[in-house]
Amino acid sequence: MFSKILIANRGEIACRVIKTAQRLGIKTVAVYSDADLGARHVAMADEAVHIGPPAARESYLLGDRIIEAARRTGAQAIHPGYGFLSENAGFAEACAAAGVVFIGPPPAAIRAMGSKSEAKKIMEKARVPLVPGYHGDDQSPDVLAKEAVRIGFPVLIKASAGGGGKGMRVVESAARFADALAGAKREAKAAFADDHVLVEKYLTRPRHIEIQVFADAASCLYLFERDCSIQRRHQKVIEEAPAPDMDPARRKAMGEAAVAAAQAIGYRGAGTVEFIADQDGTFFFMEMNTRLQVEHPVTEAITGQDLVEWQLVVAAGGVMPRRQDELRIDGHAVEVRLYAEDPARNFLPSTGTLVHLKLPEEGPHVRVDTGVRQGDTVTPYYDPMIAKVIVHDRDRVSALRRMAVLMGETEVVGVTTNAGLLKALCSHPAFVGGEIDTGFIERHRETLFAAMTPADDHAFAIATLARLVEWQEAAGDVARASDDPWSPWNAQNGFRLLDEGHDEVRWKDGERDVAVVVRRLRGGGLRLELPVGTLDAAVQRADDGRLAMRLGDETFVATVVRRAANDGGIDYTLFADGRSRRLRLVDPLDVTQYEATASDETAVRAPLPGKIIDLRVKAGDAVSKGQPLLVLEAMKMEHTLVAPFDATIKSVRYAVGEQVAEGAELVEFEAAG
Ligand code: ADP
Ligand code: ADP
Ligand code: MG
Repeated sequence: MFSKILIANRGEIACRVIKTAQRLGIKTVAVYSDADLGARHVAMADEAVHIGPPAARESYLLGDRIIEAARRTGAQAIHPGYGFLSENAGFAEACAAAGVVFIGPPPAAIRAMGSKSEAKKIMEKARVPLVPGYHGDDQSPDVLAKEAVRIGFPVLIKASAGGGGKGMRVVESAARFADALAGAKREAKAAFADDHVLVEKYLTRPRHIEIQVFADAASCLYLFERDCSIQRRHQKVIEEAPAPDMDPARRKAMGEAAVAAAQAIGYRGAGTVEFIADQDGTFFFMEMNTRLQVEHPVTEAITGQDLVEWQLVVAAGGVMPRRQDELRIDGHAVEVRLYAEDPARNFLPSTGTLVHLKLPEEGPHVRVDTGVRQGDTVTPYYDPMIAKVIVHDRDRVSALRRMAVLMGETEVVGVTTNAGLLKALCSHPAFVGGEIDTGFIERHRETLFAAMTPADDHAFAIATLARLVEWQEAAGDVARASDDPWSPWNAQNGFRLLDEGHDEVRWKDGERDVAVVVRRLRGGGLRLELPVGTLDAAVQRADDGRLAMRLGDETFVATVVRRAANDGGIDYTLFADGRSRRLRLVDPLDVTQYEATASDETAVRAPLPGKIIDLRVKAGDAVSKGQPLLVLEAMKMEHTLVAPFDATIKSVRYAVGEQVAEGAELVEFEAAG
């Protein structure tokens, strides 16, 4: 076995690999970019080597520099994690040439599966069933369009070099094909420097079921399946093992097909063969990922194996710790990916500092894989995943119930997250009942989104009560500091402690202004006049800093985090009953808040730092609401920005190819006439 390894990655996967290495007594070397100087993976490793600026292509993707770091530190092997260099055959070869072991499959196997088109050709020969489609070399738009007609709409255009759901376009009809093809090619070129595409029949309501395979020098086996059907933007959000309703015969057939696929390319190490399955259970090969998968922990949970340990053993020339007939499925495991993103804004990634972070605690049923701590920053440079939470329980319903509770207790302030959506998913009766396919989130969008945020009245009441407690506490501080703590002149903060006193707290919720009137009742307690009605309330700060509240007949505990936003406004983020919501305090003394929103109306700003890759309008153009203005590439994805209302373009501030900062004014409108 190795005595020292280097991890050519960052974030949660680097931390996860280090954990196993530590358990096995193997020393670890981390690498880091300027953006990761204080990152968790750097702190966890025994040594760390700086490799360059934040951008991945100047740091985590620089194979030579990483191999040099391994040589300098005496690391005998490199674990690539996933993403970055993990499926880069050239890097695997360079490792071998430098006398460093690449912890992964042989370069030829990576190359064989690196192109989805080539992979499909190999699988065709190995008699593994394929999704009907075209995966030929002729890339002329006419040929691709004709093939699409032959396959029958809807079709899916996919980047052959694709990954992470990028470079894919669903096309509903022939009329839309040319545009979609151009978009897919552009995205593929930007993300993978390769615009080769394939076209497939687009299955409606399919399930994504994948098989974990493993091979050493002598044999190849499978560690059962994972169901990863709950997706957004063709990217996984929830994964589970085993797949619900999988009968043993189909499990065996899929497992053996996956092993055949791996054997066809002389596989070694950990790999995943992804299938797409019809509602009736027919399955087709989709792609093979020649690396450890993000969702490998659910397989570890149900099999009791440590797949990183298996990788290390096999890479060191050893034999897999178990044989096929020694593997069993124990219970059910569910993983959720907690992303810094905004489900309400089409899952737009969210960046910022994690000023408050409360993740579930690990325990016999709960595992948390993360690469960040409170105070760390989610930057635009890398994947916006904050953590993976994995639950293992005796059956699916128990695991989902437990997960829903954990997501309800998760608190993140500083970036928007999908925690509310994850909770809504894990407690959705249809999902719990076994309705599982890749369209689930879209189809149940309304009920899921409704379950994510507290009802209006609750939200405004909680925020207002939090504001009152602040006043009270501030008043206490001021009073205590003065000569006469009980002097009424010390109550100078707006909250009058008089029997008949009343006060008003105003909030902004998007475009809406809401005033809450607070009255102090003679017998104690408060009465809140909310937009929908009146609620009696009481509030008290608990020892742990949270707020114990009574609203009407309900009592509960809420966390409220107050924070100055980048634009100078004050935001209150509320967490209560597993739901969260952000409201902006309207401070009557602060006029800049009004100005800021007024000027917003005349321009479209960059929601994220990124690069302009397409401009659809120019000065003088008349545009209508919803019309695409430009395409911004940020966090490896394309974001189309549209006109917020009917308007005339006054100026376009940037050109294609230019890098823009978050909040930059991109397109300015003529003042509405
Ligand atoms: P999986 O099927 O395991 O989700 P994906 O193909 O989606 O695999 O990618 C694996 C993970 O690696 C994803 O979270 C993706 O965002 C991330 N990833 C892929 N490429 C990169 C990269 N170049 N830099 C950082 N993260 C990446
Ligand atoms: P990536 O490399 O980005 O992971 P995949 O080929 O694995 O690309 O596809 C990603 C996802 O897109 C799948 O999990 C599935 O939800 C969806 N998808 C892929 N192919 C099809 C298809 N032919 N029909 C319907 N959905 C598909
Ligand atoms: Mg895939």
